[in-house]
Amino acid sequence: METRKLYYEDCLLREFSATVTGCVPAENGYLITLDATAFYPEGGGQACDLGTLGDSRVLDVQERDSEVQHLCDKPLTVGSTVTGQLDWERRFDLMQQHAGEHILSGLIHRRFGYHNVGFHVGQEVLEVDFDGPIPAEALTELETLANQAVWENLPVRCWIPSAQELPDVHYRRKRELPWPVRIVEFPGYDACACCGVHVAYTGQIGLIKILSCVKFHQGVRLEMVCGKRAYDHLCRVYEQNRQISQLLSSKPLETAPAVRQLQERLGAEKYRCSALEKRMFAAIAAGYQGIDNPVHFEEGLSSAALRELTDAIASTCSGIAAVFSGTDAEGYSFCLISSREDVSGLGNALTQELGGRGGGRSGAFQGSIKATRQEIAALFDRFCRINGL
Ligand SMILES: [Zn+2]
Repeated sequence: METRKLYYEDCLLREFSATVTGCVPAENGYLITLDATAFYPEGGGQACDLGTLGDSRVLDVQERDSEVQHLCDKPLTVGSTVTGQLDWERRFDLMQQHAGEHILSGLIHRRFGYHNVGFHVGQEVLEVDFDGPIPAEALTELETLANQAVWENLPVRCWIPSAQELPDVHYRRKRELPWPVRIVEFPGYDACACCGVHVAYTGQIGLIKILSCVKFHQGVRLEMVCGKRAYDHLCRVYEQNRQISQLLSSKPLETAPAVRQLQERLGAEKYRCSALEKRMFAAIAAGYQGIDNPVHFEEGLSSAALRELTDAIASTCSGIAAVFSGTDAEGYSFCLISSREDVSGLGNALTQELGGRGGGRSGAFQGSIKATRQEIAALFDRFCRINGL
């Protein structure tokens, strides 16, 4: 039996009474039908409504042959009158996203002739795909125009033209559609064939914000948010910026130049540190001059600095130069370099016997081990003795 679709009669209806016309057990609950419903079934790219029917929870809503079926967790008595209550926050959010997408898609279609070829409302953002490229400057302009439609608070008109009227109705579609066609119109911005539910006035969309635009297939994928989602998103971005401005002691609208300045300072500091390290490494290397197989321990070296210091020491000695950086508690990363000896034997002995990993070619070996300074020194001595180094 066809269900009276209250969601098409009044898109803002969130509570209603109806008579239960059917209740049959289903796999995950009970399929309940009513003589009338405000629960929108999944369709047209829009998710279904959730909520309650009496004290039964509505878990899913689908339409089959004009009949709306509510999957509920508890059975209801056929013939009884029941009160339906929609999860309004969810429905209103979906209507805000859907209506905002219409306006933007309409504007993009009018400007470029592109079609919306994919639409997905995710947990955080909605993704809309278009079949052509959109330059960044145009997006800013389109977003402003879309919000202009919101501020104009236009009535959203939904209707089904007669078979005679239909050929004269201009509306957005990817292909010719057979009568009957439900048209949803945002006056001056978009007219499109759609079976979804939308806000009653564009002002209810609140806000439309495009977040990103990336190349996708032959066109682009836009990420956008509308309504309360847009407000929540911008509040989070604002909070991040507020914290950055506080940390950098800059004005909230001057955080980008302040971060750039910080990056430049960091670059200069890195350069200065590296120059100081070079001088320090040369001094350390000078101390090992003439020693055959020097072993040096140093805390807090980066991987590049470890290599550089080992190189500096190796250039002043004849055997294997070994540098270990770290602590007994956290373990050590190490580098072995020699211009004469094959260091892979010592490298493998260190990683295999002291529990670590590493690799390299004959003249250099880098790795990390979990061992104490004492264990490392003992193994190093033993290895050199056995191998006559
Ligand atoms: Zn729609």
